[in-house]
Amino acid sequence: MLNLVLFGPPGAGKGTQSERLIDRYSLVHLSTGDIFRYNMSNDTELGKLAKEYINKGQLVPDEVTINMLSAEVEKHPEAKGFIFDGFPRTKPQAAALDTLMEGKGSGITAMVALEVPEEELRNRLKERALSSGRADDADPAIIQNRIDVYNAETAPVKDFYIAQDKFYGIDGVGSIDDITNRLTTVIDQF
Ligand code: ADP
Repeated sequence: MLNLVLFGPPGAGKGTQSERLIDRYSLVHLSTGDIFRYNMSNDTELGKLAKEYINKGQLVPDEVTINMLSAEVEKHPEAKGFIFDGFPRTKPQAAALDTLMEGKGSGITAMVALEVPEEELRNRLKERALSSGRADDADPAIIQNRIDVYNAETAPVKDFYIAQDKFYGIDGVGSIDDITNRLTTVIDQF
């Protein structure tokens, strides 16, 4: 299997690039943010719970997120591989993902990280707020909170993959095509 963790701060372009990578490599795309938003718009129990955190720019608790992600992986027994987008966002989530994939006789191939300066992120999220309809994009204070949570809790997840020699940093500034090319140059080696 080719199992990729696509990593990067809010607004780094994970969703956009995932769309391109799933076509090229025939992978299943699992975006925890998209799954939470789907549940929020359908007003499920999970959606109601997640909303309390998401609309404040906080992380949904690990236990809830890990259980949801595991269930999603189980829905795709025939998958050739996965792109995990927005997961893992904490070290416990990273450890849980290793256990989950090991249980399938597989593992994480690599973490590919889109690297974008904070100033550029704030501009992109402001732009996205005009069309996304996302409450967590609309308020600069909530955007700042997401960036702060990223720096405190999510950025350290990189060390988890560095320690396994699986970390690949990619310059996330440039045209969408350029960034796709940088990603595929790395991924094609696996
Ligand atoms: P972005 O990367 O643009 O902030 P996402 O769509 O990936 O947006 O996630 C939106 C929100 O969903 C996050 O701010 C967080 O509240 C919640 N979320 C998504 N993935 C996770 C996760 N792995 N663990 C905890 N919360 C998550």
